[in-house]
Amino acid sequence: MSKFFSDKYAALTPYVPGEQPKDAQYIKLNTNESPFAPPLSVVQAATAEAGKLQLYSDPECTPLIEHAAKTWQVKKTQVIATNGSDEVLNFAFMAFCDKNHPIVFPDITYGFYSVFAQLNGIPYETIPSKEDFSVDYRQYVGIGKNIVIANPNAPTGLALSRAQIEEIVRSNPDNVVIVDEAYVDFGGESCVPLIDKYDNLLVTQTFSKSRSLAGGRLGVGFGCESLIADLNTLRFSTNPYNVNRMTMAAGCAALCEEEYFREKCADIMRTRAYTTRALKELGFEVLDSKTNFVFAQTDKITGEELYKQLKARGVLVRHFKGGRIENFNRITIGTKEQMDVFLQKVKEILEENEV
Ligand SMILES: *Cc1c(COP(=O)(O)O)cnc(C)c1O
Repeated sequence: MSKFFSDKYAALTPYVPGEQPKDAQYIKLNTNESPFAPPLSVVQAATAEAGKLQLYSDPECTPLIEHAAKTWQVKKTQVIATNGSDEVLNFAFMAFCDKNHPIVFPDITYGFYSVFAQLNGIPYETIPSKEDFSVDYRQYVGIGKNIVIANPNAPTGLALSRAQIEEIVRSNPDNVVIVDEAYVDFGGESCVPLIDKYDNLLVTQTFSKSRSLAGGRLGVGFGCESLIADLNTLRFSTNPYNVNRMTMAAGCAALCEEEYFREKCADIMRTRAYTTRALKELGFEVLDSKTNFVFAQTDKITGEELYKQLKARGVLVRHFKGGRIENFNRITIGTKEQMDVFLQKVKEILEENEV
């Protein structure tokens, strides 16, 4: 830390992204990226914009907002586009939370929420998930604080129903409820259809997972007109060109390829079922995932040891140190071929560990 670093950030612990080692070619099952490249039309749309990079991008994100409004069947004033959904989440923390408006979220969830709270000097509380790692939605009903819930949740993969989320939103009319739907396309129930009914509901989604654009950085937020206007106030006060030209074009093109992405999501859900079955046959406990990853543990080897031995064999998964999930690994669902390699390595490791 330099002597110039502001006191207000001195205690900040930054988010730790999944590792991207350069020492070898790994099968990457650790950051929930799509194993499928975007379709050619998306690549071509982005490429065409590269020749115009001397020009700023459109700060209104006009074509993208129009496409998104059509796709999600909302008004253009009910959508915001951001540099990844992490950005819209941070804007929401900045816009709706402060010393007098704390935020709550489950103890086992996306690691960025506590970072956004710390970054913005927002008091936060975590609510313990149940023994089975599911979110106890009743604990949020009428809680009278701002709430952020990833639904489906990460790293557990478990989902609440739309009706359960709606009860949380309805019972906290004086607080903002942020529903992070990063994984909704893999089997979750979206709350976007509820934004007309509740002025305290903000739903965020991302192009990073189900639309194969993690490296493009594109997120969207949905809410009533006034919530979106507040978020735009912060966007225009930080970086009005937050979505670059190539990403904006790629995002528009991606929304014209809904059939392609639906098929890829279906493929991943099939491979998820296959992987879950195979892991259970090897003696793992696997939580019921509605995402593009599974969260699994076994009493045959510790989570950390399995992670290390898989890495030594060229397969990366995500292990989170400490607490109730110490023995688990989060395993992104790749192609069937990748999962077969992963399962083969797991089998070898378990066999070697037995003797
Ligand atoms: C991946 C992820 C995001 C955001 O990803 P971006 O790439 O910034 O859009 C948000 N929430 C959860 C729970 C995620 O797993």
